[in-house]
Amino acid sequence: MPLKIFNTLSRSVEEFVPRDSDGNAVGMYCCGPTVHDFAHIGNFRTFVFVDLVRRYLEFKGFAVKHVLNITDIEDKIIRRVRETGIPLREFTDKYEAAFFEDLQTLNCLSPHQTPRATEHIPEIVALIEKLVARGIAYKASDGSVYFSIEKYQGCGCRYGQLVNLNFEGMRAGERVSSDEYEKESIADFALWKGRVTEDGEVFWPSPWGEGRPGWHIECSAMSMKCLGSSFDLHLGGEDLMFPHHEDEIAQSEGAGVQNDGQPFVKYWMHGAHLLVEGKKMSKSLGNYFTLRDLLAKGFSGREIRHLLMSSHYREQFNFTIEGLNSARTALSRIDECLTKLREVAGKEVASPDVTLLGKFSESLDHDLNVSGAWGVIFEWIRETNRLLAAGQFSNQQAAAALAAWERMNSVLGFAAVGETEIPAELTALLEERQLARKAKDFKRSDAIRDELKGKGWVIEDTPKGPRLKKL
Ligand code: AMP
Ligand code: ZN
Repeated sequence: MPLKIFNTLSRSVEEFVPRDSDGNAVGMYCCGPTVHDFAHIGNFRTFVFVDLVRRYLEFKGFAVKHVLNITDIEDKIIRRVRETGIPLREFTDKYEAAFFEDLQTLNCLSPHQTPRATEHIPEIVALIEKLVARGIAYKASDGSVYFSIEKYQGCGCRYGQLVNLNFEGMRAGERVSSDEYEKESIADFALWKGRVTEDGEVFWPSPWGEGRPGWHIECSAMSMKCLGSSFDLHLGGEDLMFPHHEDEIAQSEGAGVQNDGQPFVKYWMHGAHLLVEGKKMSKSLGNYFTLRDLLAKGFSGREIRHLLMSSHYREQFNFTIEGLNSARTALSRIDECLTKLREVAGKEVASPDVTLLGKFSESLDHDLNVSGAWGVIFEWIRETNRLLAAGQFSNQQAAAALAAWERMNSVLGFAAVGETEIPAELTALLEERQLARKAKDFKRSDAIRDELKGKGWVIEDTPKGPRLKKL
């Protein structure tokens, strides 16, 4: 079955057909983090969604080139650099490194390219020059360069491709200089911001004087540099639809660099927000958890990943600690079943169970219906447990089930699945307990059992010897 996705551009579910004439190569760009602080798990809901899209495209056989930019120059960063007095690069480096560490904790695949905005100033300037040469951008008296919506529309282009806009209240030439603004205040937006005292040492030379780029033009320049002037797929959280993505389309198509009739981007996908008590999790509302906050509470990266990908990407959902506890339970059910399957399969190798894989991908083919895919997995776990308990699973069937799980897990991305990650020191304690028992030192062996229990693990005796299980 072909993959179908909801394209924000057409507001409908469409078959995904890449631009590549062989129908195989896919160029995908995701707006990356603004590195002004540690990212919160709302941000990571979007990056885990993007990881799911990439993994599923690869599962379907596409050769994906995944680009994720680093927004290392933007209004919020400038403000923080001014407040802290730390030089720009030193300041952003810290949060950029933390972001990549967190991505790894969540087992997200590394993007193929991670361009930084500050390293693409010549490309940004060149793109603005094209817009100025076409009469779509103009320099204002404040030394900044703005994008003219009126001139853009005058060239037959459409502003308002991703969201419906009401131009009635709009006055020609009205300007907005900040990177973020509401739909209600559509206005000419800044491409290049003339240097002001508050910018401190953060500025670059340009044909229009010293200054710095606006946020939106950064993504147009970096995405087209890495993937060409037209590419397949652009992703981000739903808040980026306006103005960020709308402005990206305007700048990129306004520069007239695409081959005739080609859009800047063929498919746009937007992930819904993670909420807290019905409100968007965000830094400004102060209702957020960073990944590190949750790790400190004892949750693992895979549990947090599970929670973040438990709902359909276009549905908002509330973050709760109970949700994380349910993710823990769900993962241990999977892990336990896989451990039993491994015991039955032994050294047997088999090809994946195609019926199971078929049901799994049928759900995901429909606009990444992850809830459907989870339904398939838990139905399979239930049935497998029943058959295993009845001793009706041959080692061949167990091996086929494990091979299918491996394929499914290439999409779900749970590291070390099947073997609950047991810290090395605990394995050593278990071995010590075995030796104590052999030596009939039951006092020591009981003490070790209690110590393990105190750390949240119990010892289960199985025909293959004792093993550790999380409480
Ligand atoms: P930022 O670092 O603010 O540029 O955001 C990085 C990504 O996180 C963007 O794609 C945002 O749309 C996304 N994002 C921000 N808040 C949330 C949230 N509460 N839930 C899901 N995604 C979010
Ligand atoms: Zn962007």
